[in-house]
Amino acid sequence: MNIAIDGPAGAGKSSIAKLVAQKLSFVYFDTGAMYRTIALYALEHQINPAREEDVVAVLDEIQITLSHEDGEQEIFLNGTNVSKDIRREEVGKNASIVAKYAAVRQKLVSLQQEIAADMDVIMDGRDIGTVVLPNAEVKIYLTASANVRAKRRFKELQAKGESCDLTQIEKDIIARDEQDMNREISPLRQAEDAVLVDSSDMTIEEVVNCLIDIIKKKM
Ligand code: C5P
Repeated sequence: MNIAIDGPAGAGKSSIAKLVAQKLSFVYFDTGAMYRTIALYALEHQINPAREEDVVAVLDEIQITLSHEDGEQEIFLNGTNVSKDIRREEVGKNASIVAKYAAVRQKLVSLQQEIAADMDVIMDGRDIGTVVLPNAEVKIYLTASANVRAKRRFKELQAKGESCDLTQIEKDIIARDEQDMNREISPLRQAEDAVLVDSSDMTIEEVVNCLIDIIKKKM
């Protein structure tokens, strides 16, 4: 069985999907991590992520592999664990740039489809219900207002002791939404058969329970 969760940056997709996967014994895959890994490779090799031909030229040098440790996805770039490095803000911004390129999407969509063919997965991203797993048994579009998403991100960064500015975070979130929703290939949108869940006024536990209810009805 395949479960697709899509939605904008900061909607809580990964924390929620991880918990739902644990409760239902599914394997959780975070596809955003794969786009981030390509952006990281470009940044580490002095390749400007905004130059499509330069990024596409090195795609064959990039091997992405995944493993799971206590339900947490670990991601490897040519054998090196980059799970922490890809979380930097700079990498996230550039992931959204390289995610516009057709060749990048082809490479990652094939990898994601191969993974989902073999096991029960919950996969989160932007195009899972629309492109990667159009036949997924359950599709969720998880969203929240930009202001709520920015406040959640602000708290996360504060908890890590990182200095941050709420207004700037909200601006960055809106810019990322714009970029992801308006790109030509596989823009972020709700699949016609996806269930919309707006978590703006819900706790994590409430969202997890809501998703489990939706999934159990389909099982
Ligand atoms: O989910 P996360 O914020 O880690 O994703 C980083 C970027 O990767 C997104 O802003 C989006 O541009 C891109 N992405 C995508 N398709 C996916 C997952 C992520 O285009 N399935």
